[in-house]
Amino acid sequence: MKYIFITGGVVSSLGKGLTAAAIGALLELRGLTVRIQKFDPYLNVDPGTMSPFQHGEVYVLDDGAETDLDLGHYERFTSGQLSRLNNLTSGQIYERVITKERRGDYLGKTVQVIPHVTNEIKSRIDEAGEGVDVLITEIGGTIGDIEGLPFVEALRQFGTENGGRENVLFIHVTLVPYLAAAGELKTKPSQQSVAKLREIGIQPDILICRTEESLGDEVREKLAMFCSVPVKAVIEERDVETSIYELPLMLQKENLDELVVEYLGLDAPKKPMDKWHDVVRRLKYPAHKVTIGVVGKYIELQDAYKSVYESLTHGGIANDTKVVIERIDSEELTTEEGRKCLEKLDGILVPGGFGDRGTKGKIWAARYARENKLPYFGLCMGMQIAVIEFARNVLGLGDANSPEFDEKTPHPVVHLMEEQKEVTQKGASMRLGAYQCNLVDDTTARNAYKEEVVSERHRHRYEFNNSYREAMEAKGLKVSGVNQKHNLVEIVELEDHPWFVGVQFHPEFKSKPFKAHPLFASFISAALEKKANT
Ligand code: GLN
Repeated sequence: MKYIFITGGVVSSLGKGLTAAAIGALLELRGLTVRIQKFDPYLNVDPGTMSPFQHGEVYVLDDGAETDLDLGHYERFTSGQLSRLNNLTSGQIYERVITKERRGDYLGKTVQVIPHVTNEIKSRIDEAGEGVDVLITEIGGTIGDIEGLPFVEALRQFGTENGGRENVLFIHVTLVPYLAAAGELKTKPSQQSVAKLREIGIQPDILICRTEESLGDEVREKLAMFCSVPVKAVIEERDVETSIYELPLMLQKENLDELVVEYLGLDAPKKPMDKWHDVVRRLKYPAHKVTIGVVGKYIELQDAYKSVYESLTHGGIANDTKVVIERIDSEELTTEEGRKCLEKLDGILVPGGFGDRGTKGKIWAARYARENKLPYFGLCMGMQIAVIEFARNVLGLGDANSPEFDEKTPHPVVHLMEEQKEVTQKGASMRLGAYQCNLVDDTTARNAYKEEVVSERHRHRYEFNNSYREAMEAKGLKVSGVNQKHNLVEIVELEDHPWFVGVQFHPEFKSKPFKAHPLFASFISAALEKKANT
């Protein structure tokens, strides 16, 4: 088994996660089995309790792990399924070490960062990569961060213990900024960041340089000399033009995969990149265009609805269509003036969310889509919103609500399940991970999936209240997907509407560029039809 460790230098937000994902994609294309994982140096056990302002999206895996959004990139770019072992935080490491200390496992000893914490990190490396040819590990944060030190030290030890470069490769992703005033690219920050790595005892094998301008031979040679890598190991990573899915092709042009395979002594010849070329062609030269409004309360954040935005793009790829995403602040939809922005849309999507803020506007969005026969896709909270809107404005239950937004509602059409009522702890206590869903014949959902039973990922506390099911179905809000084991409603849809679907799960966690999630593909196709008919 071979290992690649990816560190970041100079600044955060370099797109290390995407780079790791693209390297994984390139190696997978060469026939290798690959797994990508992330080490996050913060002290939270997982990101599940962090706000989107702090962390962006929380990405959920089949096994119910709440993880960093980079795992979403890993799953979208490669075929490997990830598990909770693939997102390790300092919180998890310290929790383990302290549990062991209390149990007496270290009896008589002083428990220290080196070796106890670093040993724990190393033991997780092998465990997480079992059965694959190459395990790629991305280290969150930037070299020089205090909290990242135990991880980097553990990698150094791991590299030495596992036989050097033919088994363990260190890739450093760094920034080469362009200074307009000087009219040139600056290599000093990268030199200093590599110096910091060397201080810890790590000599990077490959430098990946994030840059807005082409590096040119001179800059490449300078970086190579100061950072002690051959010129061929200085890789340019320019900002992508149209889409993140150009990245594997860009890095291949720089011969990155060839170099990785050569360094690690892998017998994995180059293969055609047709499927990536096809995805990029469809993104660059789409035949059609639709505008989809995403109605949320974190629309100003790049990362809060990451997988949703990606999945819409995938739905577009499947339909040879450019999806223009209009980010709409739900709090602005409560006035007639504010709702004018809905008129230009070909479809509305209401993503997941927590808490009452912004729900009024989301309910307006669902109502607008229902009444105007505009395609509507509600994800998790977006489904609950559609149910509440229907109860209020079609069933006439004016104060129908979810107790999450109004504890005293007389009509809790969405409610807390019995087992959730006893939960007091906030971390990892929702309905999480993969659940089966049986689809009802002759429904939008069943026709989209073309399967009878599907598995989807969940992350929520509240559920559709079955006491209202009959009344809702009688008036046209049909249940089209159920979890039979727990008797839970998983999908609802409007009968008298071209495409109005609410799902209690998060389909956005299972969509890929070459294999759009069926519901996203079907939603975009409905939006196209809507556009053609108006
Ligand atoms: N807040 C809702 C619940 O807990 C929806 C959660 C979500 O959208 N992920 O049920």
